[in-house]
Amino acid sequence: MQQALSERRQQQLHRSQRCMEPLPDGRVRVQGKDYLNFSGNDYLGLAQDPAVLAALTEGAARFGLGSTGSPLVTGYQYPHQALSDALCDWLGFDEVLLFSSGFAANQAMLQTLAAPDERILLDKLSHASLIDAAKQHAGGFKRFLHNDLASLNQLLSQQATGKALVVTEGVFSMDGDSPDLAGMAALCALYQAPLLLDDAHGLGVCGNEGRGSWQQQGLAPAQLQALMANFGKALGGSGGFIAASATVIDYLRQFGRHYIYSTALSPALCWAQHKAVQLCRQDDWRRERLQQHLGLFQQLAQAAGLPLLASGSAIQPVLVGDAGRCLALSQALKEKGIWLTAIRPPTVAAGKARLRITLSAAHQPEQIRRLVAALQELF
Ligand SMILES: *Cc1c(COP(=O)(O)O)cnc(C)c1O
Repeated sequence: MQQALSERRQQQLHRSQRCMEPLPDGRVRVQGKDYLNFSGNDYLGLAQDPAVLAALTEGAARFGLGSTGSPLVTGYQYPHQALSDALCDWLGFDEVLLFSSGFAANQAMLQTLAAPDERILLDKLSHASLIDAAKQHAGGFKRFLHNDLASLNQLLSQQATGKALVVTEGVFSMDGDSPDLAGMAALCALYQAPLLLDDAHGLGVCGNEGRGSWQQQGLAPAQLQALMANFGKALGGSGGFIAASATVIDYLRQFGRHYIYSTALSPALCWAQHKAVQLCRQDDWRRERLQQHLGLFQQLAQAAGLPLLASGSAIQPVLVGDAGRCLALSQALKEKGIWLTAIRPPTVAAGKARLRITLSAAHQPEQIRRLVAALQELF
């Protein structure tokens, strides 16, 4: 272990964790110093919203802290039901199953829904929770080139009809880009391959009422075998869920080990999440504000000649390449009062280290100007 740790340090890949204290307006305090925070996933500013926090307090008073059991024993309570119903009503799927994390939801989705004689086909840049689940699949997996329908088509044509499952993300977590979901759904229909979507970064941000990237691209719920998303991004809390048809959800409820053998989410948290869903749906101003920030950032960053990756989402990565240089830039930004974590391998491919900027409705326009000015100076 010591050897592995010192190798990590030598490669400039060792990671450390800091104790962060969130402040209003998308700022953060670390070791007594205040920073502008451009590394969080709180896209709509719901993590600190007073109405959501009031619901958390009310939920704790009415329902308690812990669910006291797994969902099929004593853990499924009124707040879980209310949250599940609100998600179904919002997204238009038959049923929803709640998980303790998005990671667990992805593990359950792939490990339960892929039959042993089916192969999982997933995007090369898929999140670790999808890759790890695919690696454990008895029927094996293959990765298609990132957002590349021709590459997917080639893999699909090599499988027996009806013996492949396709997995992708609505908005990629480290790149911020999106696949052509309509094209992908058509391809899947052609080969009778179910399409599974992880929309962790699309939910709340894209589409009407923030339903997600699938809805923004014109897909109907029936075109997805399962939709996975989490509460830890735009919905400002934590936990995850899978939405699907009644049959798929009942199958997951009977056979999904991450669901059956894990303590259900905190009822107080579910009550707060229920409020967050309501605000997310109704508060179009949050998405409009985020879009304004995005427009401002892109305009300034392009004028400054920053090496932006092509992304139209709240995730705006600036490609650096070398991990050591990326770390040094992140450090220099901290000295200017900006918190921007260096994203290095193995989270991204070797030579693709980046500063992953995330924008939030909680930010102020002048904070975005400060960010780009600091980046311009350093680049
Ligand atoms: C964050 C994330 C997850 C994991 O969700 P958690 O709730 O944080 O466990 C899964 N997929 C993607 C694409 C993510 O960004």
